[in-house]
Amino acid sequence: MADLNGWIDRDVASVWHGFTQMEAYAGNSPVIVERGEGRELIDIEGNRYLDAISSLWVTTLGHGVPELDQAVRDQLGRVAHTTMLGHGNRIVIELAEALAPRVPVDRPRFLFASDGAAAVEQAIKIAFQYWTNQGVTGRTKYLAFTGAYHGDTIGSLAIGDGGFGTDVFDPLRFPVLRTPCLGEPGAVDEAIRMIAEHAHELAAVVLEPLVQGAAGMALVPADAVAAVARAAADHDVLVIHDEVATGFGRTGTLFATEQCGVQPDLMVIGKGITGGYLPLAATVASQRVWEAFLGPDLSEMTFYHGHSYSGNALGCAVALRHLELLDEWDVLQNVNDRAAQLGRLLAAQIEPLAGVAAVRRCGLMTGIELAPPADGLRWGRKVSAACVERGVLIRPLGDVIVIMPPLTTTAEEIVRIVDALEAAIRLVAAG
Ligand SMILES: *Cc1c(COP(=O)(O)O)cnc(C)c1O
Repeated sequence: MADLNGWIDRDVASVWHGFTQMEAYAGNSPVIVERGEGRELIDIEGNRYLDAISSLWVTTLGHGVPELDQAVRDQLGRVAHTTMLGHGNRIVIELAEALAPRVPVDRPRFLFASDGAAAVEQAIKIAFQYWTNQGVTGRTKYLAFTGAYHGDTIGSLAIGDGGFGTDVFDPLRFPVLRTPCLGEPGAVDEAIRMIAEHAHELAAVVLEPLVQGAAGMALVPADAVAAVARAAADHDVLVIHDEVATGFGRTGTLFATEQCGVQPDLMVIGKGITGGYLPLAATVASQRVWEAFLGPDLSEMTFYHGHSYSGNALGCAVALRHLELLDEWDVLQNVNDRAAQLGRLLAAQIEPLAGVAAVRRCGLMTGIELAPPADGLRWGRKVSAACVERGVLIRPLGDVIVIMPPLTTTAEEIVRIVDALEAAIRLVAAG
């Protein structure tokens, strides 16, 4: 049935969409996807859209990748899921072994979860218990940054800086020490000062290396990340890197942390880990953190936390094949080539536009901040809609247009995205 309005009515009648006002949903021309092919999504009427946001930053190699499809099928022939609580599963071990030499964490151990927020939650709980397990009390606080986003569970929301309408939950947030985004002038000194002053009460510093994605692609310099790591080490404070958005190639290296030359005590990975196929995330713990949890059976040293679908076998199977394909296809080379091309085209076609205030980019993670002449004009929404009409699927963060194409994107697709965006911004800016 190719009746778009009929499907939208059924959607509204039975589905609740996150971060979406359902009263306005139908009027905002939603795309109702039926299938995906490569880097294109095909709606129920057969219209094609280039997935320029990688389905909210998760898709890496594209949709319907035969090799990934096969990995799911092969694992289905073994088992779809078994519990990680007290027992193991072959494919989970194989994935952890394959990830271990690739993550910038000392002798890593992987605690799997289903979503990034849940894996962040695990990390902040582990950081807290790391201290209590050693008899250290009072290490109950976290240092985080302006504009930070770490997910939507209460704990990850507390670490995050709010916005996007989440201020309503402020009474539920636990207090966090917050310092300016590390890309701001003076922010590194301020962060170092805060770490020194509050070390005795800090469980951990939590940061997004290189790019604060949800902040509108706020750039975080590598040397700033390294300076914070040094200060934290000097004052014996743990560092948690949230690589849920930046991980798995988006910034040009497998992990953004690699470009910072540091090793965090805990790292959180998610989103691209399965190439965008299945919900899987992980908290990666260094040897030092892991050892603090070893002790007698049934003792208080244990990490009493676990999710039903932790280490889902189908997710792990596709994640393992995905990791292999990133190497086999030399995907990071393509990311760097396409990122350079994207940078050139943005400089030529987008940055000079009167409707654009700033362009921020790291690898293929791009934010284009619009410059509406007044508040409340919903430029982000309008530019995105005009792109969708031109067959390029975009979703804004307020008045920041996000461009985050899949890692296998082609030169022609980059041209298609920038051309559509230029036309859309010109149209909206002309009123
Ligand atoms: C998306 C995101 C999360 C949350 O991940 P979910 O899978 O959506 O729960 C956490 N941290 C960062 C940096 C993210 O971009």
